[in-house]
Amino acid sequence: LAKTAHERMVCFYDEKLHEKILFEKDMESHMVSSLEKNEFVIYLQPKYGLVDRKIAGAEALVRWNHPTRGFLGPNDFIPLFEKNHFILELDFFVFESVCRMLRRWMDEGRPVVPVAVNFSRVHLLTNDFVEQLIALVDKYQIPPHYLEIELTESAYISRFHNALQIAQRLRQHGFLMAMDDFGAGYSSLNSLKSLPLDILKLDKNFFQEKEPTPKETIIIENIVRLAKQLNLCVVSEGVELEWQAEFLCSVDCDLVQGYLFSRPIPVTTFEKILMEHAQPLLHCPPER
Ligand code: C2E
Ligand code: MG
Ligand code: MG
Repeated sequence: LAKTAHERMVCFYDEKLHEKILFEKDMESHMVSSLEKNEFVIYLQPKYGLVDRKIAGAEALVRWNHPTRGFLGPNDFIPLFEKNHFILELDFFVFESVCRMLRRWMDEGRPVVPVAVNFSRVHLLTNDFVEQLIALVDKYQIPPHYLEIELTESAYISRFHNALQIAQRLRQHGFLMAMDDFGAGYSSLNSLKSLPLDILKLDKNFFQEKEPTPKETIIIENIVRLAKQLNLCVVSEGVELEWQAEFLCSVDCDLVQGYLFSRPIPVTTFEKILMEHAQPLLHCPPER
């Protein structure tokens, strides 16, 4: 608490807020050089087929190997990068790294599974998002259906008109379009009706630790059924327990992603297990 020159004016000093501001300033001053120094690292989390339990895809998730603050997860820096728009650069860095990796898998004759890349809603405000993605798959000669473009349900809804046009153009070009975190907030049936999608990712909060109530069971069962009738590949995130996998299998969900099967892992580790457990180009993409 500090008294100012004006007797009646009082300022509060919030240590946590102050620390957060310093932390953010520090991250901002390092982010560009960190990108150049390859301090941003891509981890892959496998997606498994529920029936055969083989790897049918992966999601690229970025981490920051920060020189002084340790190994940071995306929740530590993405909100800041969305504010200062550095996310535009970082997402393309991740996308290009994934293209390069897919090229290498193809050149080395390794099994290939589609890889999902997350894009921030900030891209929906730019004019050349689609062209930049196309330029990169052309540069590395990657079939676009090896790449899944993930946008969260809330991103699609916040900029619906732009998102619709972008999704249409990307899908026309052959990319797979995914809606991430479905059920985290809106669960909008209108968006399922209108958006050209290939993949629906059910948010991890659909599943608590306890078994679902009869109502919850009906809801999940029918969301999966509805999505599949719309010809979407359904992926359930955050599967941690065996009963959840069995339940999802019983309601005919296609793929699962979660700690029960694997945490996000370094690319080299992923490549090793992919050699043993791949089911290349399994359920995704669904027939168009
Ligand atoms: P997301 O796209 O929904 O990714 C799934 C998140 O759930 C990942 O967190 C993953 O590690 C976590 N997860 C997977 N299985 C389980 C599980 O069984 N239990 C629990 N509790 N969590 C599980 P992570 O890596 O911390 O990423 C958080 C979010 O950050 C991502 O959520 C995504 O929205 C964003 N993100 C990650 N990488 C990127 C990126 O390159 N660009 C952008 N724009 N966003 C990214
Ligand atoms: Mg995602
Ligand atoms: Mg998600």
